[in-house]
Amino acid sequence: MSATDRPASVPAPTPESTRRALSAWELDKAANHFTSDLDLRRVLHHHLGARMFADAHDGLTAFGAESATEIDALVRENNRDENLPVLRRWDGLGHRTEAVVFHPSYAEIGRRIYRTGVIGRYAEPGHDRVQMAYAYLVGHHGEGGHLCPLACTAGLVKILQARGDDDLKARLLPGLFHLDRTAPQHFHGAQFLTEIQGGSDVGANVVTARKTPDGWAISGEKWFCSVIDADLYLVTARPEGAPAGTAGLGAFVVPRLRADGSPNGVHVRRLKYKLGTRSMASGEADFVDALAWPIGAVEGGFKAVVDIVLNTSRLYNAVGACGIMRRAEIEATTYARHREAFGGPIDRFPLVQRSLRFIARERRLAVAGTFELVALVDRMALGTASADDRAVFRLVVNMNKYWTSVRSTAAVHEAIEVLGGNGAIEDFSVLPRLWRDCIVLESWEGTHNVLTMQVLRDLHRFRLHEAYFRHLETLARHPETRARLVADREAFDRVLSMPAEEASPALRDLIDHTMVTWQTACWEAVEANADAASIPEGFR
Ligand SMILES: Cc1cc2nc3c(=O)[nH]c(=O)nc-3n(C[C@H](O)[C@H](O)[C@H](O)COP(=O)(O)OP(=O)(O)OC[C@H]3O[C@@H](n4cnc5c(N)ncnc54)[C@H](O)[C@@H]3O)c2cc1C
Repeated sequence: MSATDRPASVPAPTPESTRRALSAWELDKAANHFTSDLDLRRVLHHHLGARMFADAHDGLTAFGAESATEIDALVRENNRDENLPVLRRWDGLGHRTEAVVFHPSYAEIGRRIYRTGVIGRYAEPGHDRVQMAYAYLVGHHGEGGHLCPLACTAGLVKILQARGDDDLKARLLPGLFHLDRTAPQHFHGAQFLTEIQGGSDVGANVVTARKTPDGWAISGEKWFCSVIDADLYLVTARPEGAPAGTAGLGAFVVPRLRADGSPNGVHVRRLKYKLGTRSMASGEADFVDALAWPIGAVEGGFKAVVDIVLNTSRLYNAVGACGIMRRAEIEATTYARHREAFGGPIDRFPLVQRSLRFIARERRLAVAGTFELVALVDRMALGTASADDRAVFRLVVNMNKYWTSVRSTAAVHEAIEVLGGNGAIEDFSVLPRLWRDCIVLESWEGTHNVLTMQVLRDLHRFRLHEAYFRHLETLARHPETRARLVADREAFDRVLSMPAEEASPALRDLIDHTMVTWQTACWEAVEANADAASIPEGFR
């Protein structure tokens, strides 16, 4: 008898028995997104060490429980079509308000996320490993309305800390660190670079900055403005008389409201009608002499935005993709245990097992590879990073953003396949929403091609792969992985000797290959760490 023949002794399923099985599926999903994730805990233990891991454990456990229960329910409610954000540009008396109105669930989700210190911990350097663990749990809900704002706020904090003058820091950082997302003194951030003619080609930006007695005035049109409800916008703009291209762009903070509470010359045209990340408000905006403060020297502003802000967002993007993969895994593995076909649960079919293995493997590798990068961020923040650490971060943050985003789309797609037709239904599971969010993760903060071109430039200018392979040699444990290192090394040298028109397509293929090498080596280092394998009993 084959697996697709129901034994005569097994009763045929009925609508009632199937609904009971699906209800059991709902109950069987992880009740705590942190404690149920042994791989994450091993990775964290490996990178944090026993003491920091123990310090972080209770908070992450509490948030993991909230994430799987109350936050999940709130995000589902928030993402219903009728609860998505709406723009209310005017009040009844004809004053401009430029207000974005959210369903109450949105504020409640934010309140629960920010009070964990996911942003507040930036007040002290060296906590990114813990903060990103929280962001990963937020990623279990896809965008969830708050993942993009977290990335933008983190980028703004970091560029202010690195370049802002004391007065600007004193004015803005306390609000950005404030733990109560619903308090009037809390600030969250956004970052507006893209213009309709200048997306990947940011050097084509034409929004202007004009010096005034009070500061600077920003004018022009920004085409993609996510988190348009933010209190503080980081905006790229070209000071009058500055050179063309990216070299002439400065970085400014534009408050959404002026001191008297009126809109600060930022007129929202409309909210984007988006494929994904729908519960977060992305707008198109006209800046009309909006008051702005430069973040440090106007010169070199764009370079700082790339080095600090975009690299921060690229890491958040990857952490979010990891969280999405884990959620897809939870949905699919539990479903396969409860869904019956041909006389038994579908997880007995080798082809379903193959799908589940694929999702689990992608998630494990992505988490290991991404948290290795997060650990480098902490070393850089604490001043203990080597030149190699900085080179590795610069190279891998771009490759990893590309790779984790495409693999998250593939993993969610595979999970949808496990759920069959039900996988395509929006209110049956979160998977369709996660899949739509993944497509957005693929494009924002740099498309695949743009990241590939950045990697190619960096390889030619700085030969970053030298440090990359030195780093990988310290991580890889298995002979096959070591053999991959040798092959990848040769492939990098080949790509670098190719003519320009051949090099970029070849590099994109090579990134697909070498990211698996990177991720595998990172996981091998975690596995080889006996401490990480033996997380103390109380923390299991
Ligand atoms: C939902 C959403 C929210 C967003 N929010 C924000 C935001 O808040 N702030 C912000 O600044 N931006 C935001 N963006 C914009 C996003 O960052 C840009 O869409 C992205 O940078 C690409 O720019 P573009 O859309 O102009 O594409 P284009 O630059 O027009 O690219 C089109 C295609 O050409 C390819 N291409 C371009 N240049 C090259 C090259 N040199 N070599 C090979 N291929 C190339 C690209 O890879 C892409 O496939 C958002 C986007 C989305 C979808």
